[in-house]
Amino acid sequence: MNDKLTKIQKSNDEWRECLNPEAYRILRLRGTEPPFTGKYLMHKRDGTYVCAGCSKMLFSSTAKYDSGTGWPSFFTPVSERSVELRPDDGSGLRRTEVLCRGCGAHLGHVFPDGPEPTGKRYCINSGALHFRDPTSSQD
Ligand code: FE
Repeated sequence: MNDKLTKIQKSNDEWRECLNPEAYRILRLRGTEPPFTGKYLMHKRDGTYVCAGCSKMLFSSTAKYDSGTGWPSFFTPVSERSVELRPDDGSGLRRTEVLCRGCGAHLGHVFPDGPEPTGKRYCINSGALHFRDPTSSQD
């Protein structure tokens, strides 16, 4: 599988056309949904969460847990190659941004206060994700 740095490249206008306004704000403008509002916060079904921008598989329901922070939280992505991490010193905080490796979209941040076995908390906006049922094969 060629999973190198071949990213989907679209202009902001093209992204705006294919994303809903909330997904556009999060994915392309690095926005954050208000805590305790996202559609996947309490979502507990078995399946996979994919990028709302490019459908890349990002997180499994088996790595999802309730962090109490108000955003869907995962202790690991499906693969290290599914996301990209980048230092984010904006808003006066030293954080690590999580981006989709398929399209470069902003997903959320990762913090070092997660559960075993990784100790990581991938704090991800619901609006950056789409849920895929294990039985569904279509996009
Ligand atoms: Fe993506």
